[in-house]
Amino acid sequence: MEKEKIILTGDRPTGKLHIGHYVGSLRRRVELQNSGLYKKIFVFEADGQALTDNIDNPEKVRQNVIEVALDYLAVGLDPSKSTIFIQSQIPELCELTFYYMDLVTVSRLQRNPTVKTEIQMRNFETSIPVGFFTYPISQAADITAFKATTVPVGEDQEPMLEQAREIVRRFNYIYGETLVEPEILLPDNAACLRLPGTDGKAKMSKSLGNCIYLSDSADEVEKKVRSMYTDPTHIKVSDPGKLEGNTVFTYLDAFCRPEHFGRYLPDYANLDELKAHYTRGGLGDVKVKKFLAAIMQEELAPIRERRKAYEKDIPAIYDMLKKGCEVAREAAAQTLDEVRRAMKINYFDDEALIAEQAKRFGQE
Ligand code: ATP
Ligand code: MG
Repeated sequence: MEKEKIILTGDRPTGKLHIGHYVGSLRRRVELQNSGLYKKIFVFEADGQALTDNIDNPEKVRQNVIEVALDYLAVGLDPSKSTIFIQSQIPELCELTFYYMDLVTVSRLQRNPTVKTEIQMRNFETSIPVGFFTYPISQAADITAFKATTVPVGEDQEPMLEQAREIVRRFNYIYGETLVEPEILLPDNAACLRLPGTDGKAKMSKSLGNCIYLSDSADEVEKKVRSMYTDPTHIKVSDPGKLEGNTVFTYLDAFCRPEHFGRYLPDYANLDELKAHYTRGGLGDVKVKKFLAAIMQEELAPIRERRKAYEKDIPAIYDMLKKGCEVAREAAAQTLDEVRRAMKINYFDDEALIAEQAKRFGQE
């Protein structure tokens, strides 16, 4: 059977990648990449989008392009299977955005719940940069330029995907079947949809400084887990503890596998038993945190090691990105060509148009 599905996902180079990205999207991407079921896989760094809310600090974005690329390779994205590229190097995306802007209203953008929260987080209420406000449109260009069918992302991206789908439908309705409607692929583990920060805040986010980074040293990971937010009413070991909003247990939901108990906590058969003991009382946070730390170290150590190896040849990483950009640009140019044709703005290679106009002016 011919493979038809195309994946596109990306990240903003606003910082190193963290375990929220890992469980929300990266881990899945690598699995999908290695499944061999996809025709093409595009993974990109949204540096243009990152500038929309970092215009006072463009150097941050520039510096993080290489960090994110290293994180990609460290988790197992493989440039021989996935095209890794940088958004700003694909000017075709701007042109698509320009046309898509006509298909979206200001009030529709204002309703986007993720953008609403992000505006608040950034104190943009009184002065939203236009580029930031319209980034869901540019994101639709990113997705459709590569004819993506499948977009594996965290839950916060749902409104963006919906916006992209609406643009596709509107475009195809006006200009004829041209663009491909993408589907979101959310993590199937509920704890991974939106991993909270180590401070217990709703979302681990580079901009909030509540992250465990994939590149953190073993010591840093240990320290961060030790100071993680748990249940503030669980003071004495004998107190019954709450699981809801307890970040340590959310992380266990995201990372713990049955075999971890045999290795690190053989007194319990599985996570349900551990949770039951915690809610009953008699189980201290320190013990649970030690368990979590052991699991995190096991998961992160190989990533950290691979990153160190890639760090040894930085020019080779830029070279890999450059090649990725060339491949991506070709794909985007093909779509743009189809879009221009559908919109009938390909005036100079439309002989019928030229002949028709000539006739209208009395020339045969
Ligand atoms: P920023 O604060 O600059 O927006 P971010 O940490 O939100 O950075 P993004 O680059 O915006 O990261 O997101 C990249 C991808 O990672 C998206 O698919 C997003 O859904 C996913 N993601 C980000 N944070 C989390 C999280 N805490 N849990 C699950 N998925 C996440
Ligand atoms: Mg974000």
